[in-house]
Amino acid sequence: MQEVTTAWAPARPYCRPSSNPAGPSVCLTDMETSERTRILILGGGFGGVHTAITLERLLRRELREGRVEIGLVNRENYTVFQPMLPEVISGSIGLLDTITPIRRLCPGTNLYTRSIECIDLARRRVTAAAGFGSQQRFLPYDHLVIALGNVTSFAGQLGLAEHALPFKYLGDALALRNRVIHTLEEADIEQDAAVRRALLTFVVAGGGFSGVEAVAELNDFVRAAARSFRNLMREEIRVVLLHVGPLILPELPASLARFAQRLLMKRGVEVRLNTRLHGATADAALLDGGARIATRTLVSTVPSMPNPLVAALDCKKEKGRIVVDRHLELPDHSQVWAVGDCAWAIDARTGEPAPPTAQHATREARCVAENIAASLRGTPKRAFSFRALGKMGSLGHRSAVAEVFGVKISGLLAWWLWRTVYLMKLPGLDRKLRVATDWTLDLVLPPDIVQLKTDKPVGMRREHFEPGETVFREGDRGDWLYVVVDGEVEVLKEVPGRGQALLRRLGPGECFGEIALVSDRARSATVRSVTGVNLLAVDREAFQALFSSLPPLRGFFEQLIEARR
Ligand SMILES: Cc1cc2nc3c(=O)[nH]c(=O)nc-3n(C[C@H](O)[C@H](O)[C@H](O)COP(=O)(O)OP(=O)(O)OC[C@H]3O[C@@H](n4cnc5c(N)ncnc54)[C@H](O)[C@@H]3O)c2cc1C
Repeated sequence: MQEVTTAWAPARPYCRPSSNPAGPSVCLTDMETSERTRILILGGGFGGVHTAITLERLLRRELREGRVEIGLVNRENYTVFQPMLPEVISGSIGLLDTITPIRRLCPGTNLYTRSIECIDLARRRVTAAAGFGSQQRFLPYDHLVIALGNVTSFAGQLGLAEHALPFKYLGDALALRNRVIHTLEEADIEQDAAVRRALLTFVVAGGGFSGVEAVAELNDFVRAAARSFRNLMREEIRVVLLHVGPLILPELPASLARFAQRLLMKRGVEVRLNTRLHGATADAALLDGGARIATRTLVSTVPSMPNPLVAALDCKKEKGRIVVDRHLELPDHSQVWAVGDCAWAIDARTGEPAPPTAQHATREARCVAENIAASLRGTPKRAFSFRALGKMGSLGHRSAVAEVFGVKISGLLAWWLWRTVYLMKLPGLDRKLRVATDWTLDLVLPPDIVQLKTDKPVGMRREHFEPGETVFREGDRGDWLYVVVDGEVEVLKEVPGRGQALLRRLGPGECFGEIALVSDRARSATVRSVTGVNLLAVDREAFQALFSSLPPLRGFFEQLIEARR
C-alpha cells in the first residue's frame, strides 16, 4: 500500500496561469501526465466508497506496480451511514458515530476533499474547487465513476428554502436536533399561549422511509426530553407527519405500512394522509387547500432532486438520473460509469430500474469496480443484477418493520433485526463498538438535551410571509433590516384610541426596519404582509458594520429615516 500512496501523493504538482488572466492559476497533479490508468470516482457516499474499496481489492497488483491510480473526490473527508442518521436526532447514537473517514476505508485511494465544480465529458476531466488557496484542480481521467447521489432542493417551493429543515446530511441531523432542543427551551419560558403551541408543534413532511424514521425518533425524543423541563407537559407536544398518499411507507407491503402507521399514532404522532405540504413561513407549515399548522419546526424529507452536476451533464437521462447500460457504463461515453442514486440502472434480472437505496448503490458499486477491472484486463464484463435482501424501517423505541426475503416482520423482532443488520453494515470496527455502546447506554440513561451552539453568525437570510402575516410588531426589539424582494407590505402605527393607522405601503426594492437598528430602539411600527412576500433580512451586526464603514450608505439611511419621520 505504501508504494500506492507515494505514487498518488501529489508529489510535484506544478501551477500554470489560467487562460483567463483574471482567473486563478491552475494546479496540475502528476495525474495529468501519468502513463498509468487513472480511475476517478466522484462522490464519497455508498456508491463511491464501495467502488473504491472493491477496486483496491481487485486491482491490488496493478496498484502495487503503479499501473493504476484511483482518485476519489468528495466534499467531506468522511462517508455518512445515512440509515442511522435519524438516531442522531434523539442522540441515541453520537453524532460522529454515523460517519467514517474515507481514508481509513480506502487507504490506497487518493482522496480529494474538495467540491466538484464541473465534469467535462468531452475533455475527459473534472474540475475540483479551490481549497485553502485559490487554485482549482483539474483531474483528468481514463475511467470516471459518477456517484454523486441526489440532493434535497426546496427551489421553487414557497418559503421552504427559508423556513424548512432538510434531512439528508449529517449537518441536517445536528441542525434538527439543536432546533428541537431550542424550541423546548423557548417553550418552557414562553408566556404567550399561541407562540408556546407553535413551539411545541413539530411537523415532518414525507411519509417515506426517511420521513417516518425521522418522525419516530423526533417523537420519542421530544416526549422523553420534555420530562427534564419544569414547565412542559407531554400532552402539550404535537408531532405531525404529512404524507401525500393514502398510506405511509409506500415502499413496504400494505400490512407493514399499516402497522407502522398505527404504532406511530399510538405513540402520539398525528398522521395526516393525502396531505401535501404547499409551503412554509417562519411560523407555519402551509398545506394544500389553504390549511396551516402553526409550528417553528418543519422538516421536509421531500423532494430529492438530481445533483446539479448531474443535471448539467450532456448525456441521456431518465427522471433526472443518468441512463447506463447493463454494465453500468454510459452508452455514449465509453469508460464513464454511474452508480447509486444518480444512476438509472436497469436490473438485468427484473428489467426494472434499481431503486435509490444504499444496498443497491453498494451492489452497483461492486459491479462497476468489477467491470472496470474486466475492461483493464480485457475480460468480459458482467451485467448488473441484484435481488434486494429486503427493506427495513425503524420506528424508534424498540420497534421496526421489515420485509426480509419476502417474510414480513414487525415490532421488537424487526427492531432487533434492524439494529443487528445495520450494526454489521456500519463500516469500521471502532464505529461498530461505539454504536453498540451508545445503544446499550441509551436503554438505561435519559436522553441528552444539550444544545450545541454551532450556528455561525447569519449576516443575511431570506424570509417568506403569506398575506396578512406580521413581520414584526411595534415595541419588538429590532434586530433585522428588511429589503422587499417581491410582494408588498404595510407599515402600521398604533394610534391611542383609534387602533392601527396605515403609514405606508412598501414594494420591491424598498426597505424597512432601519429606524430600530440605527437608533437602537424598539420597533416604532408594525409591519404586515399585504401579499405573499419574499424578504431579504440583514442582521444587526452586518448592518452596523456596513452602516459605520460605508459613508454613502450611512447617508442614504439617515436621509431615509429623516424622510420617514
Ligand atoms: C435519512 C436517510 C435514511 C436512509 N435510510 C436508508 C436505509 O435504511 N436503507 C437504504 O438502503 N437506504 C437508505 N437511505 C438511502 C441511501 O442513503 C441512499 O440511497 C444512498 O446514500 C445512495 O448512495 P450514493 O452513493 O448514490 O449517494 P450519496 O450517499 O448521497 O453520496 C453522494 C456523495 O457525493 C458527494 N457530493 C455530491 N455533490 C458533490 C460535489 N459537488 N462535490 C463534491 N462531492 C459531492 C456528497 O457529499 C456525498 O458524499 C436513506 C437516506 C436518507 C437521507
